[in-house]
Amino acid sequence: MPPADNVMEKLVSLAKRRGFVFQSSEIYGGLGSVWDYGPLGVELKQNIKERWWRSMVHEREDIEGLDAAILMHPKVWEASGHVAGFTDPLVDCKHCKNRFRADDPRLTGTPGQPDAQCPVCGTKGTLTAPRLFNLMFKTFMGPVEESAAVVYLRPETAQGIYVNYLNVQQSSRQKLPFGIAQIGKAFRNEITPGNFTFRTREFEQMEMQFFVKPGSEDEWFEFWRHERLRWHEALGVRPEKLRFHRHGPDELAHYAKDAYDIEYEFPFGWHEFEGIHNRTNFDLSRHQEHSGKKLEYLDPATNERFIPFVVETSLGADRTTLVVLCDAYHEEEVEGDKRVVMRFRPAIAPLKAAVFPLVNKEGMPELARRIHDGLRRRFNVFYDDGGSIGRRYRRQDEAGTPFGITVDGQSTQDQTVTVRDRDTLQQVRVAADQLVEHLADKLQG
Ligand code: ATP
Repeated sequence: MPPADNVMEKLVSLAKRRGFVFQSSEIYGGLGSVWDYGPLGVELKQNIKERWWRSMVHEREDIEGLDAAILMHPKVWEASGHVAGFTDPLVDCKHCKNRFRADDPRLTGTPGQPDAQCPVCGTKGTLTAPRLFNLMFKTFMGPVEESAAVVYLRPETAQGIYVNYLNVQQSSRQKLPFGIAQIGKAFRNEITPGNFTFRTREFEQMEMQFFVKPGSEDEWFEFWRHERLRWHEALGVRPEKLRFHRHGPDELAHYAKDAYDIEYEFPFGWHEFEGIHNRTNFDLSRHQEHSGKKLEYLDPATNERFIPFVVETSLGADRTTLVVLCDAYHEEEVEGDKRVVMRFRPAIAPLKAAVFPLVNKEGMPELARRIHDGLRRRFNVFYDDGGSIGRRYRRQDEAGTPFGITVDGQSTQDQTVTVRDRDTLQQVRVAADQLVEHLADKLQG
């Protein structure tokens, strides 16, 4: 494989050329760290989100879905700690990645200067100058731009789940332990964004908050972190590219008792793309305190009232899509030619098959069209009659389309077609009326 920078450059270029990801507002020079998904990208991301939703919500009896609004009462963010935590002058250590207040008493020297020493890892000269850090995007609700009208674009979806947990629990008649899952946009005014879609200012999260009886949180935490790793493996991500990173005491968020990141080895290094957090009863207790509303759960078995503990699994939809893109990217030699192939697991590939008439005559386009029309009722398929068959295959390899269906001279005689496998390049002849079953079988899992 080519060097890392090169791989990212190639991936960004392929993403644009093939219609996976475009820079936002590109004709105006782009908007910093905001990206748009093109025709193939939106399908890929959608398939990943649907797979997550199916495994979390549909396949489990103990998890319910929710779609909370992006805008929430501003007190939510006071209670959660986001208002206080993110508007102070902050200093980052470029070495250990810790972030702390510029007036942290442990800090020595002048941040931004070579003499400053990181209070956490002890490295000298790695601290940034203090910046007034506004992680949350602020806007105004209603016609008047005054402080009483300030609302925030949510920086995480989790709080929408916490403030609704009793609504969901009571309406769905769930008993502890149970979870609430949500997919939605989040916004962070990141100071150091970059690496393509890895760190963006607008992104989507797939979060699940699992509410448990106090005392059982460690067990559920273990369960969920293993379950989540398995999910990524089943998504087709190479297991050797996945690992856990447990947060040390200095890394733990203010709300967390324990936390693991699931990391992927991107071309630019190992980085988190999912966090599993043991959040204790911090958030619910804070909301109870700030709202004045009881957020206790009544245990029907014992008649006890208590605030549940929460185990969170927090996955970025965009970052997972980037993991899948990086993991799928392959360059190889085929019959003396170089080809770039995106080896997506067929179940999540944006296009499931492409249909080609070998030549645009002798009844082939008509039959190919009929086959395409039949397949599109079940799968996202593509029709391509432009250029040599070899070029058409290469284009679909770059799109990661697992199957290429070619209508040739024999097809018009006996109603069979060839199906080319993207990865093995093997071709099999299949009766045209068996194609739906043939593909359905291979697209499972
Ligand atoms: P990081 O340390 O990378 O900033 P974080 O620890 O703040 O991430 P969490 O708050 O735990 O992240 O968010 C959970 C998940 O949401 C992350 O693992 C990631 O997939 C996604 N995520 C968070 N921030 C961003 C972002 N700016 N751009 C894209 N995805 C993000």
